[in-house]
Amino acid sequence: MVNLQIKGQDELSKLVERSRMLGKDPNLVLYGGGNTSSKIEEVDHLGNRNIVLRIKGSGTDLKTIGEDGFSGVYLEEILPLLDKDKMTDEEMVDYLAKCMVSATDRRPSIETLLHGFLNAKHVDHVHSDAICTLTNHPNSEEIVKKVLGENIAFVPYIRPGFELSKKVKEFEDSYAIVLEHHGLVTWGETHEESYLKTIELEEKARKYIEENVVKRSEEQQEILSVEEKNTLLLTLRGVLSKKQRQIIHVDESQLHLSVRDDVDLIATGGRSTLEHILRIGKDSLVITTDDDVNEKVESFKKQYEDYYYRHIDRIPTGYTMHSNINPRVGLIKGWGCFGADITLNGAKRCTEIAQHTHQVAANVLDLFGNLKTLTEEEIFDIDYWPLELYKLKLLPPVPSLAGYIVIISGVSNTIEVEVLQKVLQKGAHVVLLGEENKSTLLLKEKYGQQLVTVIGDLNIAIQAAIDHFGGLDGVILGEKSQTSTNELDLVNSIFELQNLTGFIVTSQVIDATYQSTAIIKYKSDGTGLKGISELIGN
Ligand SMILES: [Zn+2]
Repeated sequence: MVNLQIKGQDELSKLVERSRMLGKDPNLVLYGGGNTSSKIEEVDHLGNRNIVLRIKGSGTDLKTIGEDGFSGVYLEEILPLLDKDKMTDEEMVDYLAKCMVSATDRRPSIETLLHGFLNAKHVDHVHSDAICTLTNHPNSEEIVKKVLGENIAFVPYIRPGFELSKKVKEFEDSYAIVLEHHGLVTWGETHEESYLKTIELEEKARKYIEENVVKRSEEQQEILSVEEKNTLLLTLRGVLSKKQRQIIHVDESQLHLSVRDDVDLIATGGRSTLEHILRIGKDSLVITTDDDVNEKVESFKKQYEDYYYRHIDRIPTGYTMHSNINPRVGLIKGWGCFGADITLNGAKRCTEIAQHTHQVAANVLDLFGNLKTLTEEEIFDIDYWPLELYKLKLLPPVPSLAGYIVIISGVSNTIEVEVLQKVLQKGAHVVLLGEENKSTLLLKEKYGQQLVTVIGDLNIAIQAAIDHFGGLDGVILGEKSQTSTNELDLVNSIFELQNLTGFIVTSQVIDATYQSTAIIKYKSDGTGLKGISELIGN
């Protein structure tokens, strides 16, 4: 085995280091996926020594986790559960809450009992792409044993919870466990042993894939032109923004997937690991031309509704259909993969998760010829999993301008800075046209990717809004900015393509004769602030 020492002055800091080492590889875990634990002897306030299971807390990310990201539960209080036959998720969560060392700790991971029941001191669990590639086809068990070894246990799919934790316990004499459509569980008496097992098995799986994947003859990659991309993107954004404005990000690295003739299978053949269903929905959209965008989105939603009503008897009490049933990701032929969210970060996260899930599906097809995923019932039970729906309730309310894309031309006085700040605060994504100054630089630091600066004319700012955020909802013209009827025509044509109402706020009379149905035009009192107030409130 590789000579490796995981650094840290005590067990908890080593657990943090080990977790981050796993978390930094997106092929192992993405955005909050996977979990790690150590059983550590701790002294309590009475001086008693207890074995505490330190387990990743809910809502943390292995990549960035710190010591406070781990919750502590008393091991001796969870072990008696091994004698129970059944436990619902709710009973399990309530029980775990009572075993916690500190009431202020985060809620421990849904997979806590899986870690706790295993005797080993250290346990790691990842949703590795390569491991999931081996499990997502009909012959999975055989392939897993062939590639990873006979001493690897294979557990057919069970949703995480009490039953899966008990099942995993049955196989603790094996070297490691592969969970179908889910991931890998490894353990060891040292941090290094558990970590290196994950690396070893992931590498074996990856090597097998690289050596055996049937190379495809180069598909014709007809790439869309800039005009085609603009039209398609604006049409798509409009359709997806009917209820809530969306930011759209396109990941061009998925071009090779978008042009495959089996793209429909990649989009709807199942997510690589169950967790991805929660992050990007159960299916991806497939778009071939801009004419079919509306139709495709409508039929995607109709199919979702049909699926929902087919399984409505499984819906947990107190819940109804998700409010947003639009596609969150989709493959666009000749371009790549889009992601839609109320923030650019969210949209990018969607495309990144999709990239892993789509590539796994493509690899399964190229290795084994066919995909096997969860049943529709199993998918529904993840889609409407109360333990996950509960997290949605904890999210902060959506700000009033979330998903809006606004060009602000020229920030030259304090009121204009105030306008910029206000628009950003309310969640809009902004293209700032003009020179930067101290105030705008500070805002850029604070709001990151939400604010982009360009120099030039309105045409350049419009293209920047489309390229960075996927469309345009409004233009705010500062005191010193100039504009032409041609430019306003362009703004208007964008609003029309999106089929959404946009706005122009100006401090001057732009053109008394300028008429447009799509634009709500404000003429303010020389500052632009009044128009903004009318539009978005204070
Ligand atoms: Zn998992």
